[in-house]
Order: sequence, then C-alpha cells, then structure tokens
Amino acid sequence: MIETTTAAAQSADAVAAEAAAKKHAHEMNKLSKRLHRQVGQAIADFNMIEDGDKVMVCLSGGKDSYSLLDILINLKERAPIKFDIVAVNLDQKQPGFPEDVLPTYLKSRGVDFHIEEQDTYSIVKRLVPEGKTTCSLCSRLRRGILYRVAGELGATKIALGHHRDDIVTTLMLNMFFGSRMKGMPPKLVSDDGKNVVIRPLAYVRESDLQRWADHREFPIIPCNLCGSQPNLQRATVKAMLQDWDRRFPGRVDNMFTAMGNIVTSHMMDRSLFPFETIKATGAPVQDGDIAFDEEEHCGTSAPAPASVIRLVRDDEQE
Ligand code: SF4
Repeated sequence: MIETTTAAAQSADAVAAEAAAKKHAHEMNKLSKRLHRQVGQAIADFNMIEDGDKVMVCLSGGKDSYSLLDILINLKERAPIKFDIVAVNLDQKQPGFPEDVLPTYLKSRGVDFHIEEQDTYSIVKRLVPEGKTTCSLCSRLRRGILYRVAGELGATKIALGHHRDDIVTTLMLNMFFGSRMKGMPPKLVSDDGKNVVIRPLAYVRESDLQRWADHREFPIIPCNLCGSQPNLQRATVKAMLQDWDRRFPGRVDNMFTAMGNIVTSHMMDRSLFPFETIKATGAPVQDGDIAFDEEEHCGTSAPAPASVIRLVRDDEQE
C-alpha cells in the first residue's frame, strides 16, 4: 500500500515537472521571438546595419552585451543582407578579471573576436582621488580605445548593448540634472566623427534581457571588479522608473514611445519651432492647440485611444 502511494506521488511529481518544463520552454520560445523581432525592428527602423557592414560588438561580459551578441549572431544567419561581426572586449586590467571566460565563450560560438588589453584601471586609480567616482574618466578612456580599435579592425559600425530602460533612464537623468530633454539615440555618429554607433537593443526591456541571459546561461563577469561606487543618481532614477512600472504598468513603455513622438510645436525649444512667426490664418489647423480643453488622459497611465476620445466628445455634444 505504502509502495503504491509512493509510486503514485512520484508519477504525479514527474507529470508536474514535465508540465513545468513545457511551460518554461514555451515561455522561452516566446521570449526568443520577441527579442529577435524587436532587435530586427530597431535595426530596420534606424537602418542600423547595411549590406557589407562589419559590426564591432562591444562585449563587457554583462547580460546586455552577451544578449546583443547572441541575437546578432542569430539574425546574421537569417538576414537578407551580408554583414560580419567581430566581438571586442576591453580588458581594463581590473583586479580579479577572469581573462579566460570571454575567449572560451567566443571560441565556442565560433565568432571572430579581439581582446584589447589596456590598463585603464591603473590610470584611473592614479588620477582620480580616493572616494571620488571613477566612472566618468574610465568611460572616456574606454570610448577612445574602442574607437581606435574599431578603426584598426576595419569595423563600419560599433554596436553597444544599451536597452530601452537605459534610454528612458538617460532621458530622466538629463532632465533632472542637466535641464535638457536628451536621451540616448539608437544610432549616432561618434564624437570623433569617425564611427557610427548603433544600439540594436533600443526596443528591448531590461527584464527580458535578464531572463534571456539566465536562460542562455551566459558566463557573466561581475561589473564591480573596479571597486567603484555605483552611480547613485542613475540608480535612484532607475529605481523610480521600476517603481512606476510596477504601480502603473505601461508607463515606461509610454515614455519610451513618446521619445519617438515629439510635438515640437508643444514644447518650448525655439530652435526647433518658429514660435516668433506664428500667426492666426483663420483656417482650421488639424494639429492646432486645444488650449482650453482638459488633457484627455489626465489621471490614467496611458493616453486614451483616439476612438475613446471621439466617443466622449460625441456624447458631450448630444
Ligand atoms: S564601474 Fe568601474 S569599470 Fe565601469 S565605468 Fe565605472 S570605473 Fe569603469
């Protein structure tokens, strides 16, 4: 009797485990499709990669850059255009940096790669007083080195692993601390004018990248080897956005979408809109101001759909 009960329990466990494995595989399949679709869409929308390009993927060893490389390798196989990929890691000689991890991984993926060894760690430690944040000098040094390496490798594009949440966080930081509405573009020319920098993960959520990295079991290299204090302002804004997204799902998505949907006539930048020449013409203007109306989406986390607004206005007129 006891044996029968135990066997039944084991069989129920096996069924439950199989169901859980199936569910997980289904979810990962959905996630994979979403990630590849979003990256492909961003590449197409901003014409990030063109036929014949050599894309230098900057690989730090974190979840974002591993995912970027992984997805680009897969998209390369199916793309209607031909492009090459070279992964580049900058070994900054931080204490405890595990030198073998990236070469081992990259060899296993069969991708071209280059490890650039430059002891920026010592330079930063020497020049930045103890207790001060080292990130700004460190990233300036890293940027210069990566631009040079891109030239030496004949790369035509430099791909970085910034994602949707980085982009919205940067917008907030620039507004809060820089008094500018400036985000992080999906594609730009580098400040030395010699490189085109692309961010193919621009449409991707950070939480999806975390799940993908866990699923793919990338050999993550910790990002605190330099011993620098985390950027508190960035961490604070990120926590604020995460809290908003929890309490008002869709808010960060809406903010991100808004960055590609700017109505310059309703902002205050005189270099973008000729306010000084505005005159009433007497003819209706489709996008003219509705200065005395309440905002339709007041109190909701997302703008009301146009159809809803139309219905409400029709009701008011009856
Ligand atoms: S966290 Fe360390 S390695 Fe990263 S930018 Fe800052 S100083 Fe450089």
